[in-house]
Amino acid sequence: MESPRRVLLTGANGYIAQHVLSQLLEAGHSVRAVVRSQAKVDILKKTFGKYVDTPQLDFGVVPDITTAGAFDDVLVSAPPFDAVMHTASPFFLRPVKGEVFLEPAIKGTTEVLKSIARVAPSVKRVVITSSFAAIGSMHVDPISNPPKTYTSEDWNTVTLEEAMATENPLVTYPASKKFAEKAAWDFVKENKVNFELATLNPPAVFGPLVDPSQYTSTDQLGETCSWIYNSFVSSSLKASDPVPPTFVYAWIDVRDLARAHLLAMTVPEAANKRWFPVGGELGMQGISNILREALPEKRDTIPVGEPEKTTKPEGFYECSAPEVEKVLGLTYTSAEKSIGDLAPQLVEIEKRAVGAGIFERLYALLKTRLPQVTKSISRIVADNMTGFSLPR
Ligand code: NDP
Repeated sequence: MESPRRVLLTGANGYIAQHVLSQLLEAGHSVRAVVRSQAKVDILKKTFGKYVDTPQLDFGVVPDITTAGAFDDVLVSAPPFDAVMHTASPFFLRPVKGEVFLEPAIKGTTEVLKSIARVAPSVKRVVITSSFAAIGSMHVDPISNPPKTYTSEDWNTVTLEEAMATENPLVTYPASKKFAEKAAWDFVKENKVNFELATLNPPAVFGPLVDPSQYTSTDQLGETCSWIYNSFVSSSLKASDPVPPTFVYAWIDVRDLARAHLLAMTVPEAANKRWFPVGGELGMQGISNILREALPEKRDTIPVGEPEKTTKPEGFYECSAPEVEKVLGLTYTSAEKSIGDLAPQLVEIEKRAVGAGIFERLYALLKTRLPQVTKSISRIVADNMTGFSLPR
């Protein structure tokens, strides 16, 4: 077993980060989980109750990661930190102004590195969750002849100017990941720091939630779980609805990616490199096929598409990253297991949300009609029972 480390984890309530937190704790490490609000601390305290009030888990709140010195306070610890994992960054694919992504991604990254250099000289390894979006150019045609092969050497071709001038999330989000990651590599090049840097550049991340009971509505799901729910699992769908097109086939299971974070922290050879962990290829049709097996009770509503057509179109780009298995020793979970483990959780959350919705509607109805109902009951009682009246 690895010697226990003291680790600061940012964005600890995120979909991926909760798996990182879970694996760090299970491996015996001690973690300060940093989130944006006390409400998020309270949620994590319920899920990770076993570790609360033990030396293995404490919490920090940083409401705005873009302010100067944002991490100065949370990076002071006794015992001091050995490692930092920075996962906090906006990830969704709705159109918004470029700066909504760029500001927190870039400043959040530089602020955490500046604070480490200033107040936490004990930190020896920093792991940053970058993305395949920093590598591949999502805004250009994915098909070419011959097909492009992306490796950990590549960077997307988006410029800052392009990202600031559009609301297209396939430009703004990749730009935020590229310029945040570049800022990190520049920081370690330009400053004399005590730590080594490793970045992880995962493609689409799928798989189960650590604790589905945290979710009272499917609207609270992160981006990729929400694609799966809205495209396949939602009860409002029909089998004849279209299967959405696939814009990224490369994927990884969330638990494998969490393990990659731990390996990037502990494996000596992981230092000073970008790691591009790819578990395989999985398109939206493949997801539909797996879900129809995993959720037989939903076979009539999951969009069927063309079950035979699971391969990607000719000329679609490839991803190549054999070094992750060779050097980090990471192994990968199958798509059937990954999607299969998430599927019942999505059904459970939808059921809970529908249940809560019915209760809310009943409550609202009762509240508006209550005076009328009370009056009718009073009248019936008054007409039928002499000497008795309901309290007003
Ligand atoms: P989640 O949305 O579940 O988690 C994102 C985390 O970042 C949350 O803790 C969130 O906090 C925090 N965050 C978001 N916006 C801000 C902001 N403006 N300021 C401070 N904190 C913020 O996403 P994932 O777990 O999926 O993503 C985690 C990381 O992994 C991101 O860096 C993402 O780019 C990267 N990634 C994700 C992939 C995927 O398929 N899911 C693929 C490749 C990379 P809060 O809850 O308070 O909003």
